Amino acid sequence: MTQIAFLGLGNMGGPMAANLVAAGYAVTGFDLMPEALDAARAAGIAVAASAEAAVEGAEIVVTMLPAGRHVLAVYDAVLPHVAEGVLLIDCSTIDVASARAAHDKARGRGLASLDAPVSGGVGGAKAATLTFMAGGAPDAFARAEPILARMGRKIVHCGEAGAGQAAKICNNMILGISMIGVAEAFVLAEKLGLSHQALFDVASTSSGQCWSLTTYCPVPGPVPASPANNDYKPGFAAALMLKDLRLSQEAAASASAATPLGAQAEAIYAAFEAAGQGGTDFSGIIRSLREAARE
Ligand code: NAD
Repeated sequence: MTQIAFLGLGNMGGPMAANLVAAGYAVTGFDLMPEALDAARAAGIAVAASAEAAVEGAEIVVTMLPAGRHVLAVYDAVLPHVAEGVLLIDCSTIDVASARAAHDKARGRGLASLDAPVSGGVGGAKAATLTFMAGGAPDAFARAEPILARMGRKIVHCGEAGAGQAAKICNNMILGISMIGVAEAFVLAEKLGLSHQALFDVASTSSGQCWSLTTYCPVPGPVPASPANNDYKPGFAAALMLKDLRLSQEAAASASAATPLGAQAEAIYAAFEAAGQGGTDFSGIIRSLREAARE
């Protein structure tokens, strides 16, 4: 039975690790939070006393941590303790530079590694329907694919080291910009006396069609499962959208790419968070646009 160490058992990592247990893998996990460890035990994950202890005997090490600095610190802590031939898979959403630095640390120990961030949120993590976007060598991807397939539905090899993170932040920059665009259209429609449903019926079957409209509509009614119908409870919190937009803008600056709408989206979500709305679903940005319209 393949032994997997899973480090970071939070909102995403907890259910992802539980799906590996359900698929028959022997999973040993570690997290800093006692509540995460309790939930992991209940899901059949063997809990270790430290990250270093969790990787003992593991053939695969998966990380699902908040940001690049956490991933690099955990790699520094565990790499001296992992066995030869271990494959490292980092599923966290982190900056491209840190992702490449993590690959360098793995390479320094002669280990294969993959950056494999995900899309699909906590619902996708629970249902094992995540999309994985992976960066790394083809043989590392081939080894990881059967394991990722137990946690997700679509697995894309995007290229060499860092390519998975690049795909993730480009996708989420589209998402942040498109959500603001859809929300602006609904606010304008309200001002023009056009009903939400009428705009939805036209735009969802016209050239304005996009995921932010048809799956995650920022007004209640047209898409019953969207967070707008549940007082904008996340879903995908605005603070996480801001994190990803910041990553996109750091990457754009370091690569000298012009992303003016990405920069504007970052500023709009930063103002939303500063107004105390970081825990609101990111589609709740429509509320701040309505406020702005009153000025
Ligand atoms: P989370 O805060 O719920 O979980 C992160 C976990 O890492 C926490 O439980 C924390 O205690 C643990 N941790 C931090 N440092 C650690 C260490 N040194 N050793 C062991 N554990 C440590 O966050 P999350 O929502 O699970 O997100 C994890 C990653 O997935 C982030 O990079 C996030 O951007 C990304 N992501 C989240 C979503 C989402 O909808 N929540 C969607 C896609 C991607």
